[in-house]
Amino acid sequence: MSSSGAQPSIFSRIVAREIPATIVAETEHIIAFLDVAPKAPVHVVVTTKDPQYQNVVELAAGNPTLLAELVAVAERIAAERTNGQFRLVFNTGVAAGQTVFHVHAHVLGSSTPTDSLG
Ligand code: 5GP
Repeated sequence: MSSSGAQPSIFSRIVAREIPATIVAETEHIIAFLDVAPKAPVHVVVTTKDPQYQNVVELAAGNPTLLAELVAVAERIAAERTNGQFRLVFNTGVAAGQTVFHVHAHVLGSSTPTDSLG
């Protein structure tokens, strides 16, 4: 869903606590929660509370400080929840698999050395 449309994105509704999510980290500008359909043993979505940027390219151009904060939160989650090896994924565009047009990163990893990243 576009952040420029009339409807708030699903992630804005999570920020507003209008729909439930398992929130694992929150700062003034960033929120992180477990993905509802995990693709790996550890799968956390890290997003901005501000919905104005649809993807990482827009965020990097418009507010690089906020992008750095998002990545720092993602790194902290990875350090806390994975075995230290993880993927940090920003799907950008429909053809790349992006379904929610409110910038977010996926932290994908394993909680033990033997788990697969999926
Ligand atoms: P994208 O495909 O845009 O890169 O990532 C969107 C992600 O949001 C998907 O992995 C999807 O499973 C997740 N997602 C979609 N709706 C919800 C929801 O209502 N709650 C949670 N926790 N995750 C969601």
